[in-house]
Amino acid sequence: MHYFSTNRQSPHVSFREALLNGQPDDKGLYFPSEIPLLTNGLIANLPGLSNEQIAFDVIRPYVDGDISDVDLFEICRETVDFDFPLVAINDRISTLELFHGPTLAFKDVGARFMSRCLRHFSKNNEEKTIVIVATSGDTGGAVAAGFHGVEGIEVVILYPKDKVSKVQELQLTTLGGNVTTLELRGTFDDCQAIAKQALGDIDLRTKAHFTSANSINVARWLPQQFYYFYALKQWQGEPPVISVPSGNFGNLASGILAHISGLPVEKFIAACNANDVVTRFLQTENYEPLPSVATLSNAMDVGAPSNFVRILEIFDNKFIDLKEKLESVSISDETTAATMRDVYAKYGYTLDPHGAVGYRALADHFEKNADSRGIFLETAHPVKFDSVGEIIGQAPMVPQSVESLFAKEKQSIEIGNDYTAVREILLSKI
Ligand SMILES: *Cc1c(COP(=O)(O)O)cnc(C)c1O
Repeated sequence: MHYFSTNRQSPHVSFREALLNGQPDDKGLYFPSEIPLLTNGLIANLPGLSNEQIAFDVIRPYVDGDISDVDLFEICRETVDFDFPLVAINDRISTLELFHGPTLAFKDVGARFMSRCLRHFSKNNEEKTIVIVATSGDTGGAVAAGFHGVEGIEVVILYPKDKVSKVQELQLTTLGGNVTTLELRGTFDDCQAIAKQALGDIDLRTKAHFTSANSINVARWLPQQFYYFYALKQWQGEPPVISVPSGNFGNLASGILAHISGLPVEKFIAACNANDVVTRFLQTENYEPLPSVATLSNAMDVGAPSNFVRILEIFDNKFIDLKEKLESVSISDETTAATMRDVYAKYGYTLDPHGAVGYRALADHFEKNADSRGIFLETAHPVKFDSVGEIIGQAPMVPQSVESLFAKEKQSIEIGNDYTAVREILLSKI
């Protein structure tokens, strides 16, 4: 197994190199040279296997010996050390709750897996590894928690002041230790521009190893396959339709990868908000990225989804094959809010805005396809979004981990939209 660039202008690399490089120099994305076929035994025995065993069996061919089996198993065990329950909403629709990890969103799995692999590979390094992340909310928390306390690694997070929810801010700013959080007076785009500038700063790069932990990294992307196996482990009946709330399309791409490896899934639905570049593509075969628009499901506000090229790659760029397996719909904010109210009133289940988009897309699919059943992914806990209480008129239940956050002190450094200030702070971490 090796990884090639989807732009095909960069050298092939191993798993380790793909992880450490993040992105190939030609600005494509790393993609595995083959999609391993899983043994029938794994699929047939899913209900009897532990989550860590499934994670290990699924990821092992992709790591291909770069980490010993013993160490890889331990990394898997730590990564999926919480629940992934499949909860029935009604006769036909169940949800796979992916919000039981430390930061209450599905990004915990990828962030935890990547951080532990990075620790493994930098164990004997003299140089420090500094991870820089710009976040609009969910990613930063997951990465910070994933890397918190990991030896040899410093994490610097940039988030836009006053533009993340209360819970997200507490998750970003209360860890301390090797996590430094910068509160930037600007937008998410400003944060991202500064992170890019730091990663491209040649002088800094002579002093330490700098890396980003964004979702295009193979070590964040590939472990997301685990969810789909955990869904099927708890599923009874014909292969489900699976609806995936999508923004950058990493999660969905990993689900399709799992399916090509042998996991039985009838169909995937890309559940999008008003950012509808993929929905339009599936209708017209024209791929036209646009600037993103702000919605209730803000973690999916992506106008140019970076991982979509991986989905095209899985299908060898054959539009017909892709269309057979994937459907895409875009749900407006109005319908998202109405769905949240409706599902709460009918079933007593509190959806977050991202899950609501997934639910609606699946329910609409069933209006047209009378006899199938399916699953949507609940990608974050409703308590993370300030809009939920306002929409359903009832504040979501606060999990214990959040209650204890409220007792902690926010620790952040407020800065202007200015690279020099960030650079000073980075230098002080080396
Ligand atoms: C990141 C995120 C998404 C979108 O996932 P992609 O892999 O980028 O498509 C959906 N929901 C929530 C809550 C997220 O944080």
